[in-house]
Amino acid sequence: MALVVQKYGGTSVGSIERIRNVARRVSKTFDDGNDVIVIVSAMAGETNKLVALANEMCEFPSEREYDVLVSTGEQVTIALLSMCLQSMGYKAKSYCGWQIPMRTDSAFSKARIESIEDKNIREDLKSGNIVVVAGFQGIDSEGNIATLGRGGSDTSAVAIAAGLKADVCEIYTDVDGIYTTDPRIVSEASKLEKISYDEMLEMASLGSKVLQIRSVEFAKKFNVVVHVRSSFNDNPGTLVMKEDADMETVLVSGITYNKDEAKISVFRVPDRPGIASKIFSPLSHANITVDMIIQNISQEGYTDLTFTVPKTDFKKAFKIVEETSKEIDAKNIKGDESIAKVSIVGVGMRSHSGIASKMFQTLSQEGINIQMISTSEIKVSCIIDAKYTELAVRVLHEAFGLEKGEVKVE
Ligand code: ADP
Ligand code: ASP
Ligand code: MG
Repeated sequence: MALVVQKYGGTSVGSIERIRNVARRVSKTFDDGNDVIVIVSAMAGETNKLVALANEMCEFPSEREYDVLVSTGEQVTIALLSMCLQSMGYKAKSYCGWQIPMRTDSAFSKARIESIEDKNIREDLKSGNIVVVAGFQGIDSEGNIATLGRGGSDTSAVAIAAGLKADVCEIYTDVDGIYTTDPRIVSEASKLEKISYDEMLEMASLGSKVLQIRSVEFAKKFNVVVHVRSSFNDNPGTLVMKEDADMETVLVSGITYNKDEAKISVFRVPDRPGIASKIFSPLSHANITVDMIIQNISQEGYTDLTFTVPKTDFKKAFKIVEETSKEIDAKNIKGDESIAKVSIVGVGMRSHSGIASKMFQTLSQEGINIQMISTSEIKVSCIIDAKYTELAVRVLHEAFGLEKGEVKVE
């Protein structure tokens, strides 16, 4: 008997009929003789509706109450799925995060999981229950509900698989695996049979929202093999796992894009020690993550600084930087919300040169201007005007030979 963790995302539980479909899949796994823990998301679109309600109510909703609100979507799904399983004759029990309890820190809307109590779940499994857990939510040390950030149900699932030492961790979604790029943008994208944790981490953090980044961090840390597959068919999906020898032979495994960042530029910043810390410390105290940073070469004692932040934090960040810029006597600040980051990712980059220049050349041939660049050992990212996102992804996908069945090994 194996312990199987299955996670079903929003589209997979998007209607009563789809929840019935999930119940059939779950019950089959149970009938095959396994213990099953199911983690579910809110029904498709529900979390967005809740976020919109909070924003309609006030410009800066209380972070605690925001989490109380947005966590409710998952509670609906666990109850409906449990009811469905029960009506099919199975024993099933639903759990909100606090009932497990899944303990987190208090960083509302981006909380980190600290520990998972397994006693209650293990007892229920032992007495023949299918355990149905609300993804995306936990409880902090003060008893407040805290959510794990958008897409956080993936992290709930991998953390439970790691914490309870599951034998199998399956993430069911609306595509049948990880593709070379978002198949909704490039229909020629190819499915990868396997991908290393590091590549998946880069892809997730660079905008490929098929898995939440923290879920991949957990998987890597605890060596959980994650099988990403479709809830609508039985095709084998993609295994997210430890790097192996074949993976290095592929130069670029994936192209990602991210339209969820905004750019802030601070002009004529006095160039002296401590200024960067003056600008960035208040942002980090406000829990705002800064991504790419560019500082120009100093001229006559002044420099310009540009960086990106999540769009959801843009208003808050702009206000903070506006105040700091007055304090440090910078000339002015400017924001731009219509940017996109396109990136190429691959462990093969470590051992091959010329990949970044091929990317720049491909973009320039289409007349796409590169506003910012950042690189790591296994990725190159460029900030461009958001209106060119789809075009950039398409031409890069073609330039690196990633079309269906054509992944090039050079
Ligand atoms: P769920 O609701 O199941 O969590 P998500 O919408 O979070 O599903 O993730 C699945 C979506 O991720 C797909 O529909 C696809 O459009 C998108 N996606 C982005 N990049 C990729 C990729 N490289 N491979 C597969 N899917 C991707
Ligand atoms: N319902 C949450 C969201 O839409 C969490 C998830 O689906 O993973 O972000
Ligand atoms: Mg998701």
